[in-house]
Amino acid sequence: MNVRSNEPFWLVQNGLLHNYPSLHQDIHCDVLIVGSGITGSLMAHACIKEGYQTALIDKREIANGSTSATTSMLQYELDTPLHKLIDQIGEAAAVASYKSCREAIYKIQEVVNEVKSCCGFELKKSLYFCAQSKDLKDLKKEYETRKQYGFDVQWLEEDQLKAQYGIVSQGAILSADGASIDAFKLAHDILYYNVQKGLQVFDKTESIKITYQKDKIFLKTQTGHAITTSKIIYCTGYETQHFLPEKIVKLKSTYACISEVQHTLSPALKDTLFWNTGKPYLYLRATDEGRILIGGEDEDFKNANKRDLLLDRKEYKLKKTFQEVMPHTVYHADFMWAGTFGETKDSLPYIGEHTKFPNSYFVLGFGGNGITFSAIGMTLIIDLINKQTNPLSHFFRFGR
Ligand SMILES: Cc1cc2nc3c(=O)[nH]c(=O)nc-3n(C[C@H](O)[C@H](O)[C@H](O)COP(=O)(O)OP(=O)(O)OC[C@H]3O[C@@H](n4cnc5c(N)ncnc54)[C@H](O)[C@@H]3O)c2cc1C
Repeated sequence: MNVRSNEPFWLVQNGLLHNYPSLHQDIHCDVLIVGSGITGSLMAHACIKEGYQTALIDKREIANGSTSATTSMLQYELDTPLHKLIDQIGEAAAVASYKSCREAIYKIQEVVNEVKSCCGFELKKSLYFCAQSKDLKDLKKEYETRKQYGFDVQWLEEDQLKAQYGIVSQGAILSADGASIDAFKLAHDILYYNVQKGLQVFDKTESIKITYQKDKIFLKTQTGHAITTSKIIYCTGYETQHFLPEKIVKLKSTYACISEVQHTLSPALKDTLFWNTGKPYLYLRATDEGRILIGGEDEDFKNANKRDLLLDRKEYKLKKTFQEVMPHTVYHADFMWAGTFGETKDSLPYIGEHTKFPNSYFVLGFGGNGITFSAIGMTLIIDLINKQTNPLSHFFRFGR
């Protein structure tokens, strides 16, 4: 499956940051990570830190899956509002999920500092604004719920939104605790740092056959070699659905476009992530060099061709909606791309073990919070490997 169209901005901007060989010999390791996106790289960082002899393979070039297409907004706010998630899965699970996403943003900041990444990590506020007047009541309820559970939130009225952000909307929740990055660059920086610490990385190396024995796993690659490992961590993104026995994710197509560098962006626009209550929702932010990045226009994924044929129409619609929301902000289009992402029934990820795959772990951060979920995976999977209890494993388990 092609998980993204051509020309995602991050790939164009960064190019081929680091090259790795494909696998040309048989190897052994304690932990094998399959997938080199932001999830696989964060997991590799955690495993190397823990002292495991770790190898990582990817069938593509490094981070050329969804990670090259993402808009990289780091938010604790899930696609399902907290008050609705409480109704759906209970207070303990919902509040713990929100809080763990908030912690994950600072975990990512920690990793950025450790590997000294220039991925443009910036702490930001997040503005969740009303798309239509019928959404206002629910949005106020969400504000009250988040306040009740200790989240740092503020309610903004229509006139405040106009004055502070130039946004046309009837109300919004302004939250602390957001951030943005270039996830493609960060994935590369993490891997490069860890290669110096013993991580083995092989790109253009596809796993084609896996045999599970009691204490060992044997993986064959398309390069004709074998990897023998004690544990596998699957960080294979949306393509994972192809080899899971049960359907856990509904695939969607999403669209993103980015403006030229604009030197006149207001500080409020630069310091804030934006998304609205629309279905599908509009999301946008400024990049650290002063471009406006807009995403949305999601629809059910049929196939990559159909997804990409809609690019022009979707760009037109995204720009139109943006200008309705921020009529006084100029937007000069530069790049446009599409990607595939997935929705789970409760907006939560699947992180943990699966009964059909012995000695294996999955980190599947599906949904709009994929990257923060990947960071949660670091601690959770290491706890599982070390046989430590972690309450989140119950909330994010397969078969829930
Ligand atoms: C347009 C768009 C906007 C988004 N915006 C946001 C956002 O603002 N915030 C957010 O948190 N998330 C966002 N997401 C989601 C986020 O991008 C993903 O959650 C994240 O990139 C997934 O990273 P990953 O490493 O799990 O998957 P990927 O980056 O897809 O990596 C999986 C890797 O596994 C490899 N692989 C698969 N099968 C095999 C195999 N058999 N053998 C070897 N290698 C294999 C693939 O080649 C791939 O490189 C967005 C997604 C899109 C498309």
